[in-house]
Amino acid sequence: GPAAPVLAAKGLSARYGQVQALAPLDFEVGSGELVAVLGPNGAGKSTLLRAILGLVATGGEVSFQGTVLPRRNPAAVASRGVVLVPEGRGIFGPMTVAENLELGAWSLGGGRRSRVAQERRLSWVFELFPRLKERLGQTAGSMSGGEQQMLAIGRALMADPKILLLDEPSLGLAPRVTEEILETLGVLNRSGLPVVLVEQRAPSALKLANRAYLLSLGRLAAVLDPREVQSHDQLAQYYFA
Ligand code: ATP
Repeated sequence: GPAAPVLAAKGLSARYGQVQALAPLDFEVGSGELVAVLGPNGAGKSTLLRAILGLVATGGEVSFQGTVLPRRNPAAVASRGVVLVPEGRGIFGPMTVAENLELGAWSLGGGRRSRVAQERRLSWVFELFPRLKERLGQTAGSMSGGEQQMLAIGRALMADPKILLLDEPSLGLAPRVTEEILETLGVLNRSGLPVVLVEQRAPSALKLANRAYLLSLGRLAAVLDPREVQSHDQLAQYYFA
């Protein structure tokens, strides 16, 4: 793992009722890292993100920037700067782009921060996603899938994240749009923001990632160095192990 992890989960497990969906695992993100979480459907990728945020019943412990994160208290976790872009985006379709962005600023924990800082974050979001600026008055639900994903990321950025967790941002998007969004995640990460990226499209994610956790059937199957993944076959061997 990284020398100085900013996020560190130890023996983290998760269950839904009596069903264990994630067997205990250690998971680390170094400062400035982009970590990919890969694996087939039902492997437990979304559950791992939910477990980090404390949205499900968990065992073990998650620390962020040296202190233990609370469980079952999403607002407290968000205000610490641990921000999730959920699968399906979680934006409000009937509301405008501007309203969705505004909501990100306070509902996810940015509300107590200054107006000036908010304006600065907004121009940063427009720099990353110029299309959002052009569509400020449009209802979110009437935008394309790719634009909605941009909005979901933009909204998360308005919450002043110290780490960004994304659950399959490419879901339902064309390859070209996916590449555009992943490229922007790369830009964000290189600006210093640690990123955890859950992806089914392993090759695209591996291009960006410093490390990759591979899940299979609710367990950690491997931690990979993307530079050492030579072929798709090598990945497939873990998928079907
Ligand atoms: P996908 O890409 O399909 O979302 P995933 O790797 O993210 O897959 P999870 O959504 O984390 O997988 O699901 C892991 C396991 O937990 C699956 O067997 C799933 O059926 C189960 N599961 C997920 N959510 C719940 C829930 N709310 N209640 C009960 N079981 C659940």
